[in-house]
Amino acid sequence: MKIGILYLCTGKYTVFWPEFYRSFEEKFLPGCQREFFVFTDAPRIEYEDQPGVRRIPQQAFDWPYSTLKRFAIFLTQEETLKNFDYLFFFNANLVCREVITPEEFLPRPERGEQLLLVQQPGFWNKKPIFYTYERRARSTAYIPYNCGKDYVSGGLNGGTAQAFLAMCHELDRRTEQDLANGIIAVWHDESQLNRYAAERKDYRLLTPAYWYPEGWQMPFEQKIIVRNKSRYIDVASVKHQQPATRPWLVRKWEAFRLNWLPYLWWTRDTLLHKTLK
Ligand code: UDP
Repeated sequence: MKIGILYLCTGKYTVFWPEFYRSFEEKFLPGCQREFFVFTDAPRIEYEDQPGVRRIPQQAFDWPYSTLKRFAIFLTQEETLKNFDYLFFFNANLVCREVITPEEFLPRPERGEQLLLVQQPGFWNKKPIFYTYERRARSTAYIPYNCGKDYVSGGLNGGTAQAFLAMCHELDRRTEQDLANGIIAVWHDESQLNRYAAERKDYRLLTPAYWYPEGWQMPFEQKIIVRNKSRYIDVASVKHQQPATRPWLVRKWEAFRLNWLPYLWWTRDTLLHKTLK
């Protein structure tokens, strides 16, 4: 079985590569033939001479294009990637802590599964109306409040090569359509992925055991952990974020908007029989 591992690390994110590589090389589907595709603007990366590591020169885009353009970036290698059985994308700051077997991880065709998605740890115990889906109907990632079942992480997904590449084509097309219409989905590629998932049933859904942010407490094993980026890089400068100093009233309004208004929007969308069309 041939497994392609897609890894994107431009700019400061190359700092995460050595630990990612060492842990995944040792513990992720260890019996399978694996190849790491590392898309990076770094002129050299550690382990690039190891068999099974391919450094793919990739220009660094500014935030949020660095994450948003990933589907187009993967498709630059489509001809090679087509020859794999499975393809998986991993965010740069992931570390594999426990051995992961094909049985627990790969989509199960006998159950109609072709894709692999993971529950986002911020939402595994929340109702769908509170998911931070893209709620603006102008975006191709739009999901009304009465639709959608799962909220999945943008940073770990994959599937059979055919299903994954088909997804990349579709989400790249939608991303470009949004850009042409002057809109970017609220959580970029993650919003696009969630809309794609909401339209289908052919995915295996794993628990946050495979996306466990370090320092969190959840009732799951810690198979793949998510490094806290701020310990390694200046995230605010990468993402052009200013420290938020919002007045008390604004913070109260924000909390009300997030915790209570979704009930109202759900009632509206249900009465209007909104769908994913
Ligand atoms: N990324 C990158 N260079 C950047 C910004 C992002 O390579 O300058 C890639 C990297 O693979 C990263 C992913 O995009 O893991 C998602 O970015 P980030 O982890 O910052 O997003 P978050 O998951 O925090 O929304």
